[in-house]
Amino acid sequence: MTKDEEIPDCVGAQEFYDKYETKEILGRGVSSVVRLCIDKRTSQEYAVKIIDITPSDKTTPQEIEEIREATVKEIDILKQVCGKDNIIQLKDCYVSNAFFFLVFDLMKRGELFDYLTEKVTLSEKETRNIMRALLEVVQFLHAQNIVHRDLKPENILLDDDMNIKLTDFGFAVQIQPNQKLKEVCGTPGYLAPEIIECSMDVGHAGYETAVDIWSSGVIMYTLLAGSPPFWHRKQILMLRMILAGDYDLSSPEWEDRSDTVKDLISRMLVVDPKQRFTAMDALNHSFFSQYVVNEVRQFSPYRRFKVICMTVLATMRIYCNYRRAKPVTKEVIKSDPYAVKPIRKLIDACAFKIYGHWVKKGQTQNRAALFENTPKAILLSIAAEGDEPIHIW
Ligand code: ADP
Ligand code: MG
Repeated sequence: MTKDEEIPDCVGAQEFYDKYETKEILGRGVSSVVRLCIDKRTSQEYAVKIIDITPSDKTTPQEIEEIREATVKEIDILKQVCGKDNIIQLKDCYVSNAFFFLVFDLMKRGELFDYLTEKVTLSEKETRNIMRALLEVVQFLHAQNIVHRDLKPENILLDDDMNIKLTDFGFAVQIQPNQKLKEVCGTPGYLAPEIIECSMDVGHAGYETAVDIWSSGVIMYTLLAGSPPFWHRKQILMLRMILAGDYDLSSPEWEDRSDTVKDLISRMLVVDPKQRFTAMDALNHSFFSQYVVNEVRQFSPYRRFKVICMTVLATMRIYCNYRRAKPVTKEVIKSDPYAVKPIRKLIDACAFKIYGHWVKKGQTQNRAALFENTPKAILLSIAAEGDEPIHIW
């Protein structure tokens, strides 16, 4: 059975409503809404992405035609990547004069974005699992000359076993070998410098698959730091930071992180796409291999002695600190709860629960504002919502 036979060709809207019952909204995009739906015959739950192609006051016929063409392209690519691990599975598609209906496997755990909001930051181990799966998908796409162009935690879903599923192929495109792209699209904080350069210079040579590695680097940074590498409430200044590759791996949240993970990020967030790691380079980086075991084996006698001394000293220090450590009493919690690490993490997580919707909502609002730690920064960010956004996507 070929891939195309597995997913039936698009049939009409009536067939969709005959087969499925639609339920609550799971997510929204610029021109789509995703709803839970239930197969009436089997009671199996799915997610349906409903793309509106009705002419209205807000959309010109040309825009409608563009959405229609983009959706046909999205379906083609989804069919092509069908069956690959860690990519969302398209089950069915339907089209009418007013809507497209794309039926997908339901990802009950939702977006990686929301998971990160709940956890605030992820460990290196968890980041390794997520990034390995993501880079393997990116490598698979790039091997077929498919560029996703919108990699971000909102487009990475989690299944019941916490495996990632890449979704939203709305900007994905298949290029010819050595073909360059010039179209400016994506999400501002995740845009590679060469995409921004294309928007500023009509004579620019264009970009290719390396843009997905840049976005993967931004995702990896965000998972570990809890806030994105490039952010400024004025979008133009954020774009300048991206163009200059101006990000920070020396701030306090990076203190506890290994040099290996920082090294990998710094090889993905390289401004020159020719110098940037490919997906294969990244997967071959020691962050993903059993580098600790190999390193220990290569220790010289002097280094081995040094490691033993350091281990003894560290053990003594931990023991002394443990003896000196004040118990976490009611009084300590009452007087300075933020000083207790687990409580601090809990407070941060609660803040994200309360402000999460706001953090995600607008382009000028961002989880980074929450980490600036000043009410003024958050207020300024809300005020900046009125700023004219740069229409680059
Ligand atoms: P858009 O192109 O409009 O951004 P997406 O395909 O990214 O559309 O879907 C929008 C949102 O809907 C996602 O970010 C996610 O929250 C939710 N969503 C999409 N597909 C699924 C799914 N299969 N299971 C659960 N939620 C989904
Ligand atoms: Mg999306």
